[in-house]
Parts: sequence; C-alpha cells; structure tokens
Amino acid sequence: MTIEKVAIVTHPKAYQHMAPFPKPNLEAFEAPLRLQMIERFLETQDWLGYENLKAPRATKEDILCVHSPYLYESVRVMSLLGGGSLGEAAQASPDLLRNSLASVGGAIKSAIHSIENSSVHAFSLLRPPGHHASSSTPAGLCFFNNIAIAVRKMMQEKGIGKVSILDFDDHFGNGTSEIFYADPSVQYISVHEYDYENFGLGHYEEHGYGDAEGTNINIPLLDGASDEIYEYALERVVIPHIQSFEPEVIAVSAGFDPHYADPVGNMNIDSRTFWKLGIEVRHLTEKLDVKGSFSVFEGGYNPLATGPSAVAYLTGLLGKEKPKLEDQIERESFESLDNANLEIIDIVAEEMAKHS
Ligand SMILES: [Zn+2]
Repeated sequence: MTIEKVAIVTHPKAYQHMAPFPKPNLEAFEAPLRLQMIERFLETQDWLGYENLKAPRATKEDILCVHSPYLYESVRVMSLLGGGSLGEAAQASPDLLRNSLASVGGAIKSAIHSIENSSVHAFSLLRPPGHHASSSTPAGLCFFNNIAIAVRKMMQEKGIGKVSILDFDDHFGNGTSEIFYADPSVQYISVHEYDYENFGLGHYEEHGYGDAEGTNINIPLLDGASDEIYEYALERVVIPHIQSFEPEVIAVSAGFDPHYADPVGNMNIDSRTFWKLGIEVRHLTEKLDVKGSFSVFEGGYNPLATGPSAVAYLTGLLGKEKPKLEDQIERESFESLDNANLEIIDIVAEEMAKHS
C-alpha cells in the first residue's frame, strides 16, 4: 500500500471548548488557536493537495467501547453544570461534551476512512487531545481517548486484527498504554520525555502484561533530546519493532510538543524530525503492505510551531522531499546529554529484545 493522498478531518465544534480559567496555565495552552494556526498554515501549502472531511459526532456507545460509564457521565454532567475539575489538568467547560464527541468522531472517521481508502492517510485535526485519558480517568488536558476508541472501533467494525500505535507526543500516553496493556493485538510504542519527578510512568520496564508481554514499548528520554536522538530511536527501536509486529494498520498519536519552541514540552527537535517521522511511517506502510494508516492530533501548544510541524509531517507521509521551513534553525547541542539519551535507547533496545 502506498500513501497517495492525505485527508484532514475537522469539525467546527472543535473550537468551542475552552477551560474556564482567568490566567495563563497549562489548560490555557490547549486552546482553539493551535488548530486554527495549523489550518491557516496548511492553506498556504496548496501543493500538498489534501482533501477535507467533516468529522461525525461520536455516540455514547462509541465512548463506552473503551471508557467506563462513570467517565462518560462525569464529562456529560460537568458540561451541563458549566465546568469544573474532572482530574489533574482536566477542566470541563459547558462545551466539553459536544467538543469531545466531535474529537472522538474525527478519530473514528480517520480510522475507518483509511481502511476504506487504503491509499489515503487520514489525519484527525481536532481537540481536545486524548492519549492521557485512561479507561476510567480524564487527565492532562484529555477526556476521552480518541485514538484508543478509533482503534477499537476499527477492530470491531472492520475486522482488523492487529494495530501498531506510534505515539511521538512529548509526553507518555499513559491512557493509551493502560487501555491496551494486556491486549496482544495492539502494539503501543511511545517516544517521550520521561517524567522523573511525578509519577514515573512510561519507564522502559513497562512492556505489557500476560499475552501482551512485549507489545508495550516505552522510550523514556531525558529533556532536551535532539533531532539525532529521535532519528536513532526510530532506527534502533521503533522501526524494527513495528516491522516484526506486522500490524494490519498503523495508527499515530501525532503530538507536536517535542518541538523546541513548545511551551509545555522540553525536547529539542524541529520540523525536520516531524518530516522524518512522516516518511518512516510511509515506508512502514509500504513495506508491511498495511490495510490503512491514520494519525490523530495530540499535543503541540505553540501556535507558531504546530503549523510547520504538521506540514513537515504530512510532507513526509506523502513521500515528498524535506521542506525548508522557518522553524529549522541551528541550535546548541550537548554531547553528554546526547550520549545519555543514546545509552537509554540502547538499553530499551536490549530490554525489548528479551521480550519480543
Ligand atoms: Zn504532550
């Protein structure tokens, strides 16, 4: 299968949810502007030739194929009440339920569309993001786990047997990892900034449970990881493990917050690495002759950086040459930090070789 076209899935309701906070904080970054800037930037790149699709609204039943009824009811009731806290950095607004159902609907549409049109890579460009939402708990700006629901729906409705999820958001997708931790049919690979201070989740020793042993692969990097480090992680761990898993579909949690200019993430990559990620996903879809591939937007909080990042990623998916974009500047590198990150990647590769 060769990706010939990209479809961008959007919905006007994706602009409504705003956490009701009077001053800048984490929630304030997860704002409609980050979507609008990607859309404006995409419009200036008509050579990309993407098509636009409208997301349908997900149903309660869609949500329940991954989440507990209590989680769904919490989001519904908090939206009715006009807002309130649903967990750590998970603030409801009156528009949260409507907006979240559109975001989940877009992810499902992307998954199904990519199966029905295998030469199209569908990209769900919606918010709120989802990869921190576990089966029972909203967290970290996420309420429903868009990509997890899309993967489950695709497996239930389209008879897909095996899916690889690559998550390159700056942060560990604890929700997606938890949801599929004991499911041998879904491989979850996350490259992320390791959270040494808080929960310590996302360690490379978490590799899945029971029959799913070896299907959860975490690459926990130190803050400031550079383009070269991401490239090494791809070549040493991500690509060989997706190849050996032989998925029928490749799903991507596309977070652009490892960008060096992101206010929430602390990594040090630019749009060249997002292009590299796109082209490697493309090569994998060809080599494995998958039945479909799709991406779901996760983090990415600097509206000036998300546009170039998304365009570079899509350019790579389409197999086009690396674009020269304004965010690509030379930056200071730190040899000792790079060496430490290279060592971590080698440890992950050796650790996972024991469990695959
Ligand atoms: Zn993130």
